[in-house]
Amino acid sequence: MSQANLIEQLVAIVGAANVLTAAADMAPHLVDWRGRYHGAARCVVRPANTEDVAAVVRVCVQAGVAMVPQGGNTGHCGAGIPDQSGEAVLISLARLNRVRAIDVANNTITVEAGCVLQALQHAAFEAGRLFPLSLAAQGSCQIGGNLSTNAGGVQVLRYGNTRELTLGLEVVLPDGEVWNGLRGLRKDNTGYDLKQLFIGAEGTLGIITAAVLKLFPLPAATATAWLAIDSPHAAVRLLSDLQAAVGAMLTACELVSDVSLGLVLKHIPGAQPPLADSPWHLLVELSGAGGEGELRKVLEVFLEQALESGAISDAVLAQSGEQAKRLWALRENISEAQKIEGVSIKHDISLPISRIGEFIDAADLALKQNFPGIRIVAFGHVGDGNLHYNQSKPESGENAAFIALQPQVSRIVHDIVHQLGGSISAEHGIGQLKREELLRYKSPLEMEMMRTIKRALDPRGLMNPGKVL
Ligand code: FAD
Ligand code: ZN
Repeated sequence: MSQANLIEQLVAIVGAANVLTAAADMAPHLVDWRGRYHGAARCVVRPANTEDVAAVVRVCVQAGVAMVPQGGNTGHCGAGIPDQSGEAVLISLARLNRVRAIDVANNTITVEAGCVLQALQHAAFEAGRLFPLSLAAQGSCQIGGNLSTNAGGVQVLRYGNTRELTLGLEVVLPDGEVWNGLRGLRKDNTGYDLKQLFIGAEGTLGIITAAVLKLFPLPAATATAWLAIDSPHAAVRLLSDLQAAVGAMLTACELVSDVSLGLVLKHIPGAQPPLADSPWHLLVELSGAGGEGELRKVLEVFLEQALESGAISDAVLAQSGEQAKRLWALRENISEAQKIEGVSIKHDISLPISRIGEFIDAADLALKQNFPGIRIVAFGHVGDGNLHYNQSKPESGENAAFIALQPQVSRIVHDIVHQLGGSISAEHGIGQLKREELLRYKSPLEMEMMRTIKRALDPRGLMNPGKVL
């Protein structure tokens, strides 16, 4: 099929306004959020519903053309960016943005893949419910992207990651067939749980077009505090004490290093230091029934004891929703601040929680010995064993020289992660960025099982080729 013929067929499905071919129109879709991956495409197609996605896929399959699904394009691994050959069709899900249904008694919401996460949270809120997935990109990432990367965020400790929030999916398979698996069941033992294949698959097994997701009661109250601690070891001990003291009320437990906080204070207008200097910080949030005052009291009692025992050196307990928001902004703006500071090398790792301190000690030492002046920007979801263990260039260094070190830096970090029983991706996925790294750390048997699944669903390898595998 010629290029003109392909475009003509796509236009017949979605209309000329929704087949973008001009370079300027396609440009925002062809570079990732971090500016690390630049791709090319025949066109960007913007279908409006599941039937149109299926029709677009069938046309591409008939033409033997690769397809790259894309959501909000906030991903960190180049998974939603096509390669530079210009052979692929990029399929944007942005127009599939309807809330199809809310079943309050079943605590479920059925949404289309292109729903922006924040809009989905809002729709749940309007129905008196909580959709707890929460991340700093929520104003632009889409639920289809969240599902395809099995996104985490800051409330996983309490509610689980995207996988755990999902009950059903609708997927356009790589041959254009539509699988309707939109069941809102909490229990369903009728064979393989097929939806799990597509969650975290980074668009390599099909295009998610809709999902049934879990909702929760809106918490009546929250209590938020910022603590000063002396090490990641102290953070892990404190997490365990907090869990013993407040149980399931613990919603978030976020570790922030002094270097990470320093970048936020430097680059984010209005950011204020919450406490005097400390090498490490912990942001904790409780949520639950009862009043704000009651919950704050629970946290206050815990903090008093922790101060007395020396587990923390200082703490500030937010006295208002506004103050809590300001504390959260210090944590949530770290990625943004690091981006303003210059290029960064990112590691999105997970470890058994018990080994976080050991990891940071070993990796800090190895990196500082090998790369004098390197700045370690460590922060993340200590309650999930998930660290964003990033590096910024030395103050006086050059971006290009620093980024050239990425393979050596990542090798050191990932080898230590692997030795300690961890994973090289906790949240962001593999994409193009860690495709080769994956081969080093997954067993040949695991890789072969993944390839077998890929071949079974996508024998021609047209669905997001070159990603993950
Ligand atoms: P995209 O970037 O568009 O795509 C991501 C992958 O999903 C690609 O492989 C793409 O092909 C595929 N895809 C997208 N939509 C579909 C679909 N409908 N069907 C099939 N495949 C599809 N991530 C976290 O997990 N936790 C965080 O706390 C977090 N914080 C972030 C903070 C910032 C400031 C930024 C910029 C990003 C952050 N991320 C975080 C990363 C990113 O936001 C998530 O990976 C998010 O889930 C990606 O969603 P998206 O819609 O932008 O997907
Ligand atoms: Zn994260």
